[in-house]
Amino acid sequence: MLHQVPAGETTTRTTCPYCGVGCGVKATVSSGGEVAVAGDEAHPANRGRLCAKGASLAETLSLDDRLLHPTIHGQRASWDEALDLVAERFRATVAAHGPDSVAFYVSGQCLTEDYYVANKLMKGFIGSANIDTNSRLCMASAVAGHRRAFGTDTVPGTYEDLELADLVVLVGSNLAWCHPVLHQRLMAAKAARPGMTIVTVDPRRTATADASDLHLALRPGSDVALFAGLLAHLDAAGAVDRAFEEAHTDGFEAALGAARAVGLSGAAEATGLPETALSAFYDLFARTGRVVTAFSQGVNQSASGTDKVNAILNVHLATGRIGKPGASPFSVTGQPNAMGGREVGGLANQLAAHGNIEDAGDRAAVQGFWGAPTIASRPGLKAVDLFRAVREGRVKALWIMATNPVDSVPGADDVAAALKACPFVVVSDVTAETDTAAYAHVLLPAAAWGEKDGTVTNSERRISRQRRFLAPPGEARPDWWALAEVGRRMGFDGFAYDGPAAVFREHAALSAVMAARGKDFDIGGLKDLTDAAFDGLEPVRWPVPAAGGAAGAEVGREAETGGRFFADGRAFTPNGRLRFVATAPAGVTGSPGRPLILNTGRIRDQWHTMTRTGKTARLMGHIAEPFCEIHPADAAAAGIEAATLVRVDSAHGSVVVRALVTDRQQPGTVFVPMHWTDRLAAKGRVDAVVAPVTDPISGQPALKATPVSVAPFGAAWYGFAVSAARPDTEGCDYFAVARAKGGYRTELAGKTLPKDVPDAARRFLRLPAVGGSLTAVIDEGAGLYRFAAFEGERLIGALWIAPEPVAVSRAFAAERLTDPCARAGAVLAGRPGADRPDTGAIVCTCFDVGVRQIEAAVRDGAALTVDAVGAVLKAGTNCGSCRPELRRIIDGARVPVPA
Ligand code: SF4
Repeated sequence: MLHQVPAGETTTRTTCPYCGVGCGVKATVSSGGEVAVAGDEAHPANRGRLCAKGASLAETLSLDDRLLHPTIHGQRASWDEALDLVAERFRATVAAHGPDSVAFYVSGQCLTEDYYVANKLMKGFIGSANIDTNSRLCMASAVAGHRRAFGTDTVPGTYEDLELADLVVLVGSNLAWCHPVLHQRLMAAKAARPGMTIVTVDPRRTATADASDLHLALRPGSDVALFAGLLAHLDAAGAVDRAFEEAHTDGFEAALGAARAVGLSGAAEATGLPETALSAFYDLFARTGRVVTAFSQGVNQSASGTDKVNAILNVHLATGRIGKPGASPFSVTGQPNAMGGREVGGLANQLAAHGNIEDAGDRAAVQGFWGAPTIASRPGLKAVDLFRAVREGRVKALWIMATNPVDSVPGADDVAAALKACPFVVVSDVTAETDTAAYAHVLLPAAAWGEKDGTVTNSERRISRQRRFLAPPGEARPDWWALAEVGRRMGFDGFAYDGPAAVFREHAALSAVMAARGKDFDIGGLKDLTDAAFDGLEPVRWPVPAAGGAAGAEVGREAETGGRFFADGRAFTPNGRLRFVATAPAGVTGSPGRPLILNTGRIRDQWHTMTRTGKTARLMGHIAEPFCEIHPADAAAAGIEAATLVRVDSAHGSVVVRALVTDRQQPGTVFVPMHWTDRLAAKGRVDAVVAPVTDPISGQPALKATPVSVAPFGAAWYGFAVSAARPDTEGCDYFAVARAKGGYRTELAGKTLPKDVPDAARRFLRLPAVGGSLTAVIDEGAGLYRFAAFEGERLIGALWIAPEPVAVSRAFAAERLTDPCARAGAVLAGRPGADRPDTGAIVCTCFDVGVRQIEAAVRDGAALTVDAVGAVLKAGTNCGSCRPELRRIIDGARVPVPA
């Protein structure tokens, strides 16, 4: 099946569905149905730039894995049958067990309109606050920290502030890989103003650290001590803005007292950083007026995440550096619409439009506006607690939307067990087979990016349109529609929307009602948009109040403040004053038998559980297998050799991944990426290992601090394969399969070699099904096996097996699948002859430039800078995501010239 396409070529301006930068995308559909994407030069977030993920969006639109029809218990059903069943089961469960016996678990992938209807249905009509979102995993600590300090969940600054600052401190943020376009903006500003200083605070030496002037590799979890030491230093150095503090803030003395108790020596002890390094950083911060501290998951995903956030906010409040051009704290959100979800109350402890669920007046205002029969009066279950409640039978009906918690929620094996035990599970998704969809009683096909219509809000509060440019395939429908239909079928009024514009108008009108109650989130100026005006809505940063504002224009406070908050000292606390919070330093340690601390996170070219980015060979060319970064000393102590397989164990579960031995990881810590699922690897779901420990205030899980042990997996053999068809991995002790041009590439290994290796190779390459002849070179005594299968002249599969990790050029082997002149001898050799260069692992995915090409250019003296590599090989000249890696490769490949 193909997408239906409009007649003639059309270009649609929309927004990238990946990270919180929220880049504008132009999607052009040709009359032949081919889609091309480019950065939108008119979008203020990216001005035409895209990273590798955004630039590859067109390659993710295939329908091969799409969920196209509703199913009930695995059988195809009509939408009417499925929606009636969902409505009846939710209604009956509530009737029998009360409103808190049901729950929704939604996603930062949802559009604001989806989120709005979900929140309205659960909180206002079902009468429970049991709606939480995977944004809980991403930035709930920032929300809680903001609310403690500002009385509202509002990011004070803008992206422009990172460009205007003289000092940018990036805390717990691998911006270069996780928010690449924002990082490119920062790098461009630094190139234009070399006097700007960039400091990265991160236990790991990341690509972002490589691109910084100073890297503070603190101990995991010691951020509070770092910033407490800084607050004490600012006071001692006379850098506190006393006038601002006295006029506009509360709690300074208590926060300062807690900070002084830490001091420089306490900060040094907690962080493991030398006092000289800390003093240099503290002096730099104290004497620089324009400072932005940008923070992300390394701060938020912690058992003390909220305190970390407030420790950062404290130093900005103390210096009055908040909401001013180039001077502000700045939370960078992970997901495309984490912010939109916050605006409509998509978290279990929020009401819509920045309403406070504990405030009777706010509740009455929202209930009255909705004409709702009830309103949730206390916070609902937050993500980790929600799945615990499912497992314990307290939640008996659950609707999961646009997310894959069996892979992404900590204690993931328990999440799977919870879903298995749950009497009624509904999953709305784009993808037919996910690890979560396997547990659904009802599957609902959702419209995907490019097919759905609505709005998202990025990290700087800018609302942008996601527009439809393809017809939804099969019976896929938008989530807001399915939710409204269930609401209607449960007998509720208030869900008769005729499109996303109607939902948006209601959302905007509610914001005006709540703004009248003193809330800051106000887009009342957009409440009367016609459908056509909604369709044409330009990116706009809130607030957009109704008074004096024309719909769609940036008006009011935006014009007064440059779109920033709190520089005037006006907060949204009961007394209108900003609040310091006394924070307590915390750390993380291993446990007996599990001496290492597991950190998890993203890699450059993948998004979440790879249901989209995993579809493109280009993006899989960067890193195709889950890995564990481990320091050489820890690897040696555990008997782990580079590139072998290791088992990472916690009290909760285990993964088997490739060892990446590197001093970029500090001793005592390991890092495993978050993306791999049971669909792509034998045992790569790292959230099965992560402990379901949460911050007591925000409820955000500590995804970066699980005690683990790491040990050799003990593989007796290793293999690598390329194949035109997805290989048969049944029974493999270890595999990691990835898309390649023309097919798949697979790493594999086992504890014992199959008795009949050629027969196993045939089954693995699916030769009984796809046909083809097998050529083999076998040295049984040495444990070396090489197979190549051809169908006519075309290579359809090749497999190399050895007792050690196989020395095959992955890029060369994968390219042979599309080589019309592939020859068995060259394929079996597993690497190019002397006449062809071996590209090595792909670094620049835009131009397919590999690490060996870059190293060769450096050694030849042809390219000694990142720009020179670009001039010679084009690498790094398009999206720029690989530029920090290029710099690292150049530094590593430079060899001294012999005298
Ligand atoms: Fe998309 Fe990349 Fe922009 Fe993030 S930085 S919104 S992933 S193009």
